[in-house]
Amino acid sequence: MKTGCAFCGHKGLQPRQTQYIYRRNGQFLIVDDVPCLQCAYCGEQYFEGGVLRDIEKRFNELHVHGQKASKEVQIPVEHFSNLCRV
Ligand SMILES: [Zn+2]
Repeated sequence: MKTGCAFCGHKGLQPRQTQYIYRRNGQFLIVDDVPCLQCAYCGEQYFEGGVLRDIEKRFNELHVHGQKASKEVQIPVEHFSNLCRV
């Protein structure tokens, strides 16, 4: 695992659990409580390769093989030009 932040060079990476949003081809998978290391200075998050592979595998099970996720949410979508109608 890394010893410092590749982004800002800060040495203090702390173990955290975070929400990871995986997106591919306009499809999403949100995974809660994913273990990562987070830079105490800039907030950049680092994930182990195995963690990302697990998420990608689950994404394929859901979106390619049609399995059902343990929970589903509806996500509102807007186009930015619709936000500025004054
Ligand atoms: Zn950093």
